[in-house]
Amino acid sequence: MSFFDPESQLSQDVSVADPAIATLLRRELERQAGTLEMIASENFTGIAVLQAVGSVLTNKYAEGLPHKRYYGGCEVVDEVEDLAIARATQVFGCDHVNVQPHSGSTANEAAYSVLVQPGDRVMGMSLAHGGHLTHGLKVNFSGRMYEFHGYGVSPETHRLDMDDIRRQAHEVKPKLIVAGASAYPRTLDFPAFRDIADEVGARLMVDMAHVAGLVAGGVHPSPVGIAHVVTSTMHKTLGGPRSGFIMCDEEFATGIDRAVFPGLQGGPLMHVIAGKAIAFGQCLTPEFRERQQRTVDNCAALAEVLVANGIDLVTGGTDNHLVLVDLSKTPLTGKDGEERLERAGITVNKNGVPFDERPPTVTSGVRIGTAALTTRGMGPDDLREVAAIIAEALTPATADADLDALRARSGALGARFPLYPQLINETTPV
Ligand SMILES: *Cc1c(COP(=O)(O)O)cnc(C)c1O
Repeated sequence: MSFFDPESQLSQDVSVADPAIATLLRRELERQAGTLEMIASENFTGIAVLQAVGSVLTNKYAEGLPHKRYYGGCEVVDEVEDLAIARATQVFGCDHVNVQPHSGSTANEAAYSVLVQPGDRVMGMSLAHGGHLTHGLKVNFSGRMYEFHGYGVSPETHRLDMDDIRRQAHEVKPKLIVAGASAYPRTLDFPAFRDIADEVGARLMVDMAHVAGLVAGGVHPSPVGIAHVVTSTMHKTLGGPRSGFIMCDEEFATGIDRAVFPGLQGGPLMHVIAGKAIAFGQCLTPEFRERQQRTVDNCAALAEVLVANGIDLVTGGTDNHLVLVDLSKTPLTGKDGEERLERAGITVNKNGVPFDERPPTVTSGVRIGTAALTTRGMGPDDLREVAAIIAEALTPATADADLDALRARSGALGARFPLYPQLINETTPV
């Protein structure tokens, strides 16, 4: 007998092999399809990527780089990784790319290990002003390993002021400057960051995790060719499988490759790398560019209607895929905002605003992004309707019963844009 006989456990569909997990997979699919997803770091990946990530490539060990592996049987996965590398190179026009990082955080860890030594000074955007925890938060590896100095936004404009950052860089004299953010609604000026880095003899790393899709689609300036090293995630605006990648000048290529493996990781996730190859390939299509442009147009429409309805936005608007609602002048906290929107059928996250006086578990802001709804097919008129729902939900006088009525409105809108209809209509859960 074989353990793959039709009756054996290894041949069973998940609905038979593990009904508890099967039910949860189905429930999560229905949750994603049944609410309006506006977490700015999330998106919906395509069916082809889901298939690759659920493929037999998960079985393969492939430590090392294509054609230089530490395991046999890598001839097929070598071609998979070659395709991912070739397509990423074509999308971003980089000298070199490593597609193996398991996540954005791991990509950053690898990049730092090449660019600085433990204890070295680094400047990064502080988390409280929109940076990422891997840019120097004290309890993160980055803040423990390196001497991070956080830069922030201007108290008046809530935008990055490049003159302030220049002054701080001359004082701190960092070895590395990190540019990139998780909750900043404006375009980042990469050439200005590079000028500052050159003036103080620092290297520049750009972490473009949030805007990678916008960069690939030509709707946000590219850091490639400006920063010494560029790190990213695949799964935010780019819409690929959950993971990371690193691009760099030729000078750092060997260092970056060695930092990822054997420096930090063991075997690469070849099923995910196949998903990356698919996602990078899709970046090269007109459809992808149109979607990225629409993500930004949708966010502009969202911002306009929120502001018209009296909702404060950090910096008064947006250039990219996200807005940061500032509730600090209202009786509502960020936590209240997140809960009210959840009740209204819209998924977001509470988020600190610059100079927030509330703790990170409460906050005074809500971060809202348009990438996922754009992927579902919504356009600016739909986002105006979403904005009207959000504005009403965030009006302090709106009662719970009104939030339920808003949920019906957001549900009706979502129903016009079916998510994964091929999966929803299948009897198998995924
Ligand atoms: C999301 C994000 C990351 C980390 O990505 P993970 O895959 O969650 O580890 C790193 N940097 C920035 C700026 C991010 O927004």
